[in-house]
Amino acid sequence: MSLFTAVEMAPRDPILGLNEQFAADPNPSKVNLGVGVYYDDNGKLPLLECVQAAERTMAESPKARGYLPIDGIAAYDTAVKNLVFGADSEPVQSGRVATVQAIGGTGGLKIGADFLKQLKPQSKVLISDPSWENHRALFTNAGFKVESYAYYDAAKRGVNVEGMLADLNAADEGTIVVLHACCHNPTGYDITPEQWDGVIAAVKAKNLVPFLDMAYQGFGQGIAEDGAVIGKFVAAGLSFFVSTSFSKSFSLYGERVGALSVLCESKEEAGRVLSQLKIAIRTNYSNPPTHGGTVVAAVLNTPDLRAVWEKELGDMRLRIKQMRLALVEKLKAAGVTQDMSFITTQVGMFSYSGLTKDQMVRLRTEFGVYGTDTGRMCVAALNSKNIDYVCAAIAKVI
Ligand code: PMP
Repeated sequence: MSLFTAVEMAPRDPILGLNEQFAADPNPSKVNLGVGVYYDDNGKLPLLECVQAAERTMAESPKARGYLPIDGIAAYDTAVKNLVFGADSEPVQSGRVATVQAIGGTGGLKIGADFLKQLKPQSKVLISDPSWENHRALFTNAGFKVESYAYYDAAKRGVNVEGMLADLNAADEGTIVVLHACCHNPTGYDITPEQWDGVIAAVKAKNLVPFLDMAYQGFGQGIAEDGAVIGKFVAAGLSFFVSTSFSKSFSLYGERVGALSVLCESKEEAGRVLSQLKIAIRTNYSNPPTHGGTVVAAVLNTPDLRAVWEKELGDMRLRIKQMRLALVEKLKAAGVTQDMSFITTQVGMFSYSGLTKDQMVRLRTEFGVYGTDTGRMCVAALNSKNIDYVCAAIAKVI
């Protein structure tokens, strides 16, 4: 009898498990549309010019790597605040935003979840149905009961806004609501600015705690356009949480650069909240790593580099849009008769294709085209070389 005899084998992560299966697939034409990663038209993970320029400057005057403050690099936290809320915005100007550097967007969510568990131990968490698969596990592991609010409407190929609002309006006072700020993962369907007004009204009426997950700022309509939802919550006079990820927008997945921002009622309150966020960080991993945060701060805070970043992010956004258009056209050309134009109304990296689990399994086993069983495909992994093959494969299983 060993100490670990009773330890059960945990289920494989559905998406990372798919990656392992992909790696082992000998099919030379295989295409991985499973994971949420942006690849360029050559199928390569980009190393952005702005990142390379910042790293060259850093290499010219190498710095020792002492511990960072618990809340991270001050210039980074300021850059995040300015990006998320606007440098001239009232919340930033009045100092009522508490921002901490975090280990990716996941880290931002986790620090927020731990802090909320201390603050509101009895509250439930609501996530969208469906949602990024880690939302449920992360908030459950932080000690919360997690339920969902209506979101995807398969028949309508869009968002069930009435159902979403009904669920939010039926929630208990003080419920924590995780909202995708833009580029909903996994469906690709966002709600309109007017529909956000309805969400905000429900949040206000039921005193809900909004937790905006912004993992794809700049991948939808633009950096400012995608961030506009934050301004709406500010204008409504709400206190709320925002997690930020630069994994995708800087193509810095492995550097784990993210943040958590909490909008408070006053500067004094933000100081107290910050002190508690620091305890959550201290007891999880003590303090964040230096490299990614230094790069992102340098790019965001240096006008020339920032202009390069905005161009590069714009190019990624544009390429995804082109792939969506091409997908619709080429599926038609490949003989798919059903209307697939919904693909161009979706935004961000993903498309909920509407394909069934059986069809997704066939795509994988017969053609080496990997997406999740839910029908989610990463459009950002399509390119001019693999798209014809993917469309031909889809046409065969549909
Ligand atoms: N939230 C959502 C909705 C995501 O899709 C992701 C990344 N797939 C994250 C958070 C986490 O981002 P990161 O990799 O920076 O931890």
